[in-house]
Amino acid sequence: MHRVRPLPAYLVQRYHGWKATGYQENRAWYKRLATEGQRPRAMVISCCDSRVHVTSIFGADQGEFFIHRNIANLVPPFEQDGAQHGTSAALEYAVTALAVAHVIVLGHSQCGGVQGCIDMCEGRAPELEKETSFVGRWMDILRPGYERIRETGGDKATALEKESVVVSLRNLMTFPFVREAVDDGKLTLHGVWTDIGEGGLEYWDAAADQFKPV
Ligand SMILES: [Zn+2]
Repeated sequence: MHRVRPLPAYLVQRYHGWKATGYQENRAWYKRLATEGQRPRAMVISCCDSRVHVTSIFGADQGEFFIHRNIANLVPPFEQDGAQHGTSAALEYAVTALAVAHVIVLGHSQCGGVQGCIDMCEGRAPELEKETSFVGRWMDILRPGYERIRETGGDKATALEKESVVVSLRNLMTFPFVREAVDDGKLTLHGVWTDIGEGGLEYWDAAADQFKPV
């Protein structure tokens, strides 16, 4: 572990700046969060992409969102195989321990993971097809989604980015504790997609099976 180094200077500087201003001005709020614990109203599942900033989009403060990020905001199907499932663990904790009222899946434009999935499904990304590719095997979750959008004309990337949200929403319902909370009226699922360049936000209208502007 000798290769682990102290933080770069620019981050140390930024941290001290935040401690002196952002933290100092909201000190009481931070103290309260520390003593009372977290009670987030929503869990958000978004992409790791650095351009996706769910707390900015919704003006959320610390303690409001329980956020899980992974490549292409995907929820895998419910699977009890004893393996290490990070997304499923976060979901289980949010729904059963924190009892969040909402789970929001947030997709986005120009998603590199989704583009990789398209390339893989169309035979242009042999490196992703390897058994050893973590990204490739993760993106297998979206293969059924690709099959659904492959014939659609127009912008395939946008179609699959939105489909990634729908696939995740479908997979969410395969988790017994999610289905139960939804059936009991304690939990609501939501799917949204954001256009990074335009700052746009669309939601999935399940009844109409299409995305509409918020
Ligand atoms: Zn992405």
